[in-house]
Amino acid sequence: MSRYLAEKYRTLEAYTAGEQPQDKKYIKLNTNESPYPPSEGVVKALKDYDADRLKLYCDPEAKALREKLAYIYKVDSENVFVSNGSDDILNFCFALFGGNGAAYADITYGFYKVFAKLHGVDSTVIPLEDDFTLDPSRYEGLNRLIVIANPNAPTGLTISIDKIESIVRSNPDSVVVIDEAYVDFGGESAVRLTEKYDNLLVVMTYSKSRSLAGARLGFAIGNKQLIDDLNLMKNSTNPYNVNALTQCVGLATLGDAEYYKSNCEKIIKTREYTKDALLTLGFEVTDSKANFLFAKSSKISGEELYLSLKEKGILVRYFNAPRTSEYVRISIGTQEDMEKLISAVKEIIYENK
Ligand SMILES: *Cc1c(COP(=O)(O)O)cnc(C)c1O
Repeated sequence: MSRYLAEKYRTLEAYTAGEQPQDKKYIKLNTNESPYPPSEGVVKALKDYDADRLKLYCDPEAKALREKLAYIYKVDSENVFVSNGSDDILNFCFALFGGNGAAYADITYGFYKVFAKLHGVDSTVIPLEDDFTLDPSRYEGLNRLIVIANPNAPTGLTISIDKIESIVRSNPDSVVVIDEAYVDFGGESAVRLTEKYDNLLVVMTYSKSRSLAGARLGFAIGNKQLIDDLNLMKNSTNPYNVNALTQCVGLATLGDAEYYKSNCEKIIKTREYTKDALLTLGFEVTDSKANFLFAKSSKISGEELYLSLKEKGILVRYFNAPRTSEYVRISIGTQEDMEKLISAVKEIIYENK
């Protein structure tokens, strides 16, 4: 760090993103990207894109994209905010709505605590139960910004919409953010509740189910006043927050909904195959409704498994923290990827004996 760095940032601990190795070809099961390519419509939109348009600024309101999202999610475009990845929206939420502090689970998306620290938001960290489920009664009446990933990461577990509603209802003076990054793999969306509650914001992304992690596109749905607040932050930092190419491919993606739906179905099927295979090998596996599995074996530690798989050219994610160190998180790839994973795991476990 330089001696010029502002005092308040000196103790900041940045988020550690999953590895994106550029050297060697791995079977990449560590950052929950889609194993399937963007749709033909996206490929065509890029091919037909007139490069000359890039000399101009993009539409700062991303009107076409927001209107199409509004149509799909049956809300008005004034209820939709888009951004350069959903992390951006989560960041804004901590800055905008964290005035009375924030609350989130001990085992959840690692970025929440980074944003809290970044904005000096006091955090109540609420432990998940022993089986990693979330007890909604612990979130009632907190009067702080509440952030819940549903399905949760890295466990993949969901909480029901009824439980979300009870949390939203019992915190009328604070915002509840539901991070639905993985909802398309078997979760249930809370979007409908945003019509009823002005303190609920649902955040989604193109990075997982829509094969566009590299294009960076996220969106939020909520009451107009919450969306206005997000726009206030956006227009005070980066009004052109979704670049022209991303707006273009984002729109094309929405036109190919059937393709993405069938990819999600394939991923769900492969997830269940992988889960069964791991159970057969004696693993404990959570009941994930996301595009990853959270699994542990009594035969090998999370770290050893991660390292041994890496040696065999397969990358998974390992979280070195007290309640998660026995586990690895395995993104769901193609069926073929997962068959390779399972045979690698078998080899590792036999070598270990
Ligand atoms: C991947 C992920 C995000 C961020 O997605 P981007 O849109 O790529 O920024 C947000 N929340 C959770 C829980 C995620 O796993």
